[in-house]
Amino acid sequence: MAEEHVRSYYAASANPARARAPLQGEISCDVCVIGAGFTGLTIALELAEKGFDVVVLESVRAGWGASGRNGGQICSGYSADMDRIAGWVGAVDARRLWSIAEEGKAIIEDRVARHGIACDLTSGYLYAADSPKHEAWLEPMVRDWAENYGYERARLIGRGELRDLVRSDRFLGGVLDEGGGHLHPLNYALGLADAAEAAGVRIFENSPVTEIDTGAAPWARTAEGAVRAKFLAIAANAYLGGVAPELRRHIMPVGTYIVATEPLGEEGAAEVLPTNLAVADLNFVISYFRLSADRRMLFGTGVSYSTVPPLNTAERYRRKMVSLFPQLADARIEYIWGGFVGISRERTPHLGRLSPTVYFAQGFSGHGVALTGIAGRVIAEAIAGQAERFDLFAKLPHTAFPGGRLLRTPLLVLAMTWIRLRELI
Ligand SMILES: Cc1cc2nc3c(=O)[nH]c(=O)nc-3n(C[C@H](O)[C@H](O)[C@H](O)COP(=O)(O)OP(=O)(O)OC[C@H]3O[C@@H](n4cnc5c(N)ncnc54)[C@H](O)[C@@H]3O)c2cc1C
Repeated sequence: MAEEHVRSYYAASANPARARAPLQGEISCDVCVIGAGFTGLTIALELAEKGFDVVVLESVRAGWGASGRNGGQICSGYSADMDRIAGWVGAVDARRLWSIAEEGKAIIEDRVARHGIACDLTSGYLYAADSPKHEAWLEPMVRDWAENYGYERARLIGRGELRDLVRSDRFLGGVLDEGGGHLHPLNYALGLADAAEAAGVRIFENSPVTEIDTGAAPWARTAEGAVRAKFLAIAANAYLGGVAPELRRHIMPVGTYIVATEPLGEEGAAEVLPTNLAVADLNFVISYFRLSADRRMLFGTGVSYSTVPPLNTAERYRRKMVSLFPQLADARIEYIWGGFVGISRERTPHLGRLSPTVYFAQGFSGHGVALTGIAGRVIAEAIAGQAERFDLFAKLPHTAFPGGRLLRTPLLVLAMTWIRLRELI
């Protein structure tokens, strides 16, 4: 039987989406994209708009991976600090990379408006510090963004103002970023898939790629078919299996979960987040939360080896959420789901080529809602012959994770647990 989306609040509130047939037989095209998440769908859409004949092969359903399960939080910049990025590529290129990240946010607004994607896109993002140490990071961060990158949409707020935005006593101060925001990620992915199809892209679902050839005339094979193309674009991120082992060394699939409460009602929601912001704390293993359109609290945190929640996970998450918001003590948890985040060692997106005909993008390190769109655009530009911005990304260093396939994630989870412990001490 064909596999479906994992059970989640997003799947339960998804816009109608038609099932697409698996690939059968051999076909050819200009570009074959592997993976129908935000990255793959954007590559496909951007290329189709440039007149390319594009095929997308997806293991399960469009939006089935991280793109259809995430916190929906649209963040500015990169997961790595901008001063680290400037240290790697220099001040001028760091400014260009900042502008590129900004374009990632603009792409979402543009796509939503242009294709009429109903995905509850909302503006406003808050970085909230829950310790003096993290509070001390805020002012230099806002100053750096303003002075070095010309970003004027974020401002420092004190405890009093923060308390009006997030009704929790736990936070000491924050940065309010009017340029960030949130959306229903699965509905955005489904909208991108429809837009890509309308632009002429052929999407095949339940079609996992089992083998690729990276030569001058590349191809991708599935159980029942094959695609011959001029180019392949691998956009499978943390869900990539054994198809391109050389990519897996650079990315750590880390499992994380989100819980959704029952609807809180307008009044109940206003007692938690009166202005409907997306919020994240500054811990290494972050907690991030926001309201859904039907006024549930969506609360994510934690790292794990897998995405199948252990039995007591919902209760642990509920307790964590209630420790921030005692007013949610009686709110029932109706959904819990997990997904893999693709972390790169340097916490910057990893774009590159496996050969002159095979491109890839992965490792958005928790910033993929905004950065996947621009990564997709930059890869589409490179395939179309304009590689300037692709080459800029390629300047970012990317080292492989230590440990074999089976050891890598446990090692990272251990490292994260250690960092978390250190933060608590
Ligand atoms: C629980 C969770 C919360 C998150 N929260 C946030 C957040 O709030 N903000 C943020 O910016 N980022 C967040 N992220 C990260 C963000 O979701 C990702 O960076 C982004 O969705 C990556 O998109 P993608 O298209 O590259 O990969 P994916 O969406 O994972 O898509 C990859 C696709 O490739 C397919 N695939 C894999 N292998 C094959 C194959 N062999 N053949 C065919 N298809 C294949 C998969 O089925 C999948 O659909 C979160 C991630 C998770 C899991």
